[in-house]
Amino acid sequence: MKPDKSKLHPETLAAQGMGKVAEPYRDIVPPIYVSTTYERGADGAFPGGRTYSRADNPSYDQAEALIASLEGAAAAILFASGQAAAAAVFLALTPGDRVLAPRNMYWGFRKWVLDFAAPWGLGIEFYDNASIDDLAAKVRAQRPRLLWIETPANPTWEITDIAAASAIAREVGAIVAVDSTAATPLLTRPIELGAHIVMHSATKYLNGHSDVVAGVLATAADDALWQRIRYQRGGGGAVLGPLEAWLLLRGMRTLHLRVGAACANAQAIAERFNGHPKLSHVLYPGLATHPGHAVAARQMHGGFGGMMSLRLKAGEGAAKAFTARLRVFKRATSLGSVESLAEHRASVEGPGTQCPADLVRLSIGVEHVEDLIGDIEQALT
Ligand SMILES: *Cc1c(COP(=O)(O)O)cnc(C)c1O
Repeated sequence: MKPDKSKLHPETLAAQGMGKVAEPYRDIVPPIYVSTTYERGADGAFPGGRTYSRADNPSYDQAEALIASLEGAAAAILFASGQAAAAAVFLALTPGDRVLAPRNMYWGFRKWVLDFAAPWGLGIEFYDNASIDDLAAKVRAQRPRLLWIETPANPTWEITDIAAASAIAREVGAIVAVDSTAATPLLTRPIELGAHIVMHSATKYLNGHSDVVAGVLATAADDALWQRIRYQRGGGGAVLGPLEAWLLLRGMRTLHLRVGAACANAQAIAERFNGHPKLSHVLYPGLATHPGHAVAARQMHGGFGGMMSLRLKAGEGAAKAFTARLRVFKRATSLGSVESLAEHRASVEGPGTQCPADLVRLSIGVEHVEDLIGDIEQALT
């Protein structure tokens, strides 16, 4: 008899990739379906239920089912990247709609919103990530169609109270979408807190090995908006390749182990360097001194994530010099992988960045924590 999946823990679902075993070979690992097209029956119907691989691909099924299950969602769909997933939400709106987004959000998506979504006709306004009062006032005054949330928010890791924000947005009938990339579905489940849509850059923790670019959306309800988003994926054509979907499922089998280790390492590193004489700030929601700590402690379970930033008292030059002296951390953009990465974030974001020039972003991996601590220590001196 098959186990009741709704009663299994996320760790079990992840480790077994939803536990599906397929006929005829009873394979423990699913095949990769490379066919772009599917045969019709003589009656014109599609007996296999599939038509063409821009609409969907059987290689997505298990990864999508696993993410939906981890998020407590009605459904999830994969995209070719996190950007494509996020863009699909905006493109499912109608020109003239208003969107309220956080002032501090993932740079690449903020830029796309300003360069493409705004000229297309969406009215984009920003709220202060760290202030639920500012969010509430703007939601009530502007009555947006969409409230976009990112928490913890890149690269300064402000926390937005998803439950409070969702309740306020629902008063005015706004859709609530959360970029939950940094939190992962293990630490935070936005749908349970009132969000309609959850977005992840699956390039980051979900895949976790710096070898796949992918994105995903999960939904609270299979409603008209969701159907429009689905149509945007197939119609816009930002579909993931079958090999990438397969790698993503493989990566997700260890999601709980990787996220657990990254959280523990990050917490230890943040505590060790908080108050260091060369640093003005250690930005990490797991520190009691972080302004969002109380909310984070309520909406994040099992850890505060693997992302943090250090701000150097001596400014931009010192931040760049610190980054240059690192030997164990790799100097690279991206996050959420098994190896630790560091970057002088303002240089990556370029002109127009809102990121403080003295900030170094760290994505903490699963290495031995003393190797990471030692590396930061020597690079700070
Ligand atoms: C990386 C990232 C994105 C964009 O995802 P891609 O997979 O690179 O397209 C969006 N939001 C956050 C928080 C990210 O870290």
